[in-house]
Amino acid sequence: MDKLKKAIRDIPDFPKAGIMFKDITTLLADAASFQRAVDLLGHRYLDRKIDVVVGIEARGFLMGAALAYKLNTGVVLVRKPGKLPYMTYKESYSLEYGTDTLEIHRDAINPGQRVLIADDILATGGTVGAVIKLVAKTGGELVECAFLAELTELGGRQKLGDTSIFALLQL
Ligand code: AMP
Repeated sequence: MDKLKKAIRDIPDFPKAGIMFKDITTLLADAASFQRAVDLLGHRYLDRKIDVVVGIEARGFLMGAALAYKLNTGVVLVRKPGKLPYMTYKESYSLEYGTDTLEIHRDAINPGQRVLIADDILATGGTVGAVIKLVAKTGGELVECAFLAELTELGGRQKLGDTSIFALLQL
């Protein structure tokens, strides 16, 4: 785990002053670290009967696609506004830096399908909170939200209440 933590690079004051940005591109670019992270996360869900993995734009696409491949499921995209071509559900949310809206295709998840949400970092929890609401709108059954890492001091996990959250690394 220490090796994985070290593979994530700290960039102070990005994208604005006071934010310590956790840059996972260094972990993704290292074959051994990327494979280990996906294997460890994926292993947790092998027996959880996941039907579909939801990846959050943009780094969540990478974790989500890799996890879906490992779990032998499809992958569904949650995207920023105006990117998805078919009818969508929308949810607004606040970030550690700024606010935004996310969308999912209305027919991306069938009611009752067992869903795993994937993203790189859990910070304040605003983003994944919106995605949880989007999944609920489709009628999907959320199994868990999986992250490469959580920034524990920001209290995202507490904000999400009863939702099942798993993060491989605590930063
Ligand atoms: P939040 O909604 O605050 O939980 O923010 C989560 C989203 O913003 C994730 O998709 C992260 O990729 C990104 N993010 C927020 N804070 C950071 C940070 N300090 N370092 C890297 N990514 C971050």
